[in-house]
Amino acid sequence: MHSKVVVIGSGPAAHTAAIYLARAELNPVLYEGFMANGIAAGGQLTTTTDIENFPGFPKGIMGSEIMDAMRQQSERFGTKIITETVAKLDLSARPFKYETEWSPGEVHTADAVILATGASARRLGLLGEDKYWQSGISACAVCDGAVPIFRNKPLVVIGGGDSAAEEATFLTKYGSHVTVLVRKDQLRASSIMAQRLLNHPKVTVLFNTRGIEVKGDDKVMTGLVIENTVTHKRQLLEASGLFYAVGHDPATSLVKGQLDIDSEGYIITKPGTPLTSIEGVFAAGDVQDKRYRQAITSAGTGCMAAMDAEKFLAEHELDQREGAAEGKSE
Ligand code: FAD
Ligand code: NDP
Repeated sequence: MHSKVVVIGSGPAAHTAAIYLARAELNPVLYEGFMANGIAAGGQLTTTTDIENFPGFPKGIMGSEIMDAMRQQSERFGTKIITETVAKLDLSARPFKYETEWSPGEVHTADAVILATGASARRLGLLGEDKYWQSGISACAVCDGAVPIFRNKPLVVIGGGDSAAEEATFLTKYGSHVTVLVRKDQLRASSIMAQRLLNHPKVTVLFNTRGIEVKGDDKVMTGLVIENTVTHKRQLLEASGLFYAVGHDPATSLVKGQLDIDSEGYIITKPGTPLTSIEGVFAAGDVQDKRYRQAITSAGTGCMAAMDAEKFLAEHELDQREGAAEGKSE
């Protein structure tokens, strides 16, 4: 199969790109993946409940519901959606070549590629984590911090980077107090963020401390057993919320060694654009964004990727026509 443009991924970035491409009559093919990186088609929002900060839904909307709606909107304008995972991608020459997980050796081609494979928040695998995931435990304070179960309750953040500092500070708006657990004797966060955190009256930072076990009443979490990594002394910390801020893993294994990627594995795009280091390859959503990581920003960059892909394809066709007129081939 050859297509003008292939979209890899199925979160807000991928579907927004597909909607724009399909409306521009570019007949996009979208690979939504089959449990790619352990995440169902539809992406990270399918792993959560209420989305309260995506504009247009004053009463909120369930994560799976908004992703079903985005998928329907992609299809409505003619996107061909394939429920397979792209397993190999060769960006060395145009048209770009790829193979899927279930049909190895069967090579498909595309003139342009939009990478919207997303990222996944790291988990810690604490005892009780599976039981209380989304019933007290979250990997996104900005997404979940405002829900009623956290209001005026003691909360815990694990992590010592900028995300932990930012999320803990954000949570002080809702919780009665926020305790930050840092595994080493120092924060990794930038000094300005670290100072803000350390000076906040509603925050306590516990260094050399790790989480051990999440406790609860079978419905929601009520506390966390923590351990001092130097003295090995354990104690039970009362907590209604536990927020992980221990980093994300962008899904970039397909393009490692082919595209410019930063030290943490994120695709590097030209600032303010979805352009990658290879012409005709665009990146959108969390796979290229370690700062905002929101559905709305992913959708926004998906739109940008589609518009730049459309421009690229128009120029590419013009080149081909001029090449043919002058009797040269690409
Ligand atoms: P993702 O949503 O990460 O999806 C990428 C998809 O691509 C995945 O389904 C994956 O399986 C697929 N894929 C990966 N590799 C391949 C491949 N090789 N072939 C085919 N498919 C592939 N944001 C908000 O704005 N509001 C919220 O309330 C909110 N709540 C959240 C709650 C939780 C628990 C989490 C984890 C995140 C939350 N977020 C929220 C963040 C939001 O989900 C992400 O920012 C957004 O989903 C990123 O979108 P994306 O398009 O980059 O891709
Ligand atoms: P980082 O990788 O910077 O920090 C992750 C933190 O989690 C580190 O403190 C790390 O500890 C800790 N950690 C990792 N694994 C574990 C574990 N198993 N148990 C306990 N703690 C653990 O990730 P961030 O998400 O904070 O930041 C990613 C990037 O995004 C950075 O470049 C950051 O600067 C940027 N960013 C910037 C913001 C801003 O400028 N406002 C906001 C948010 C992010 P250790 O230090 O011991 O390794």
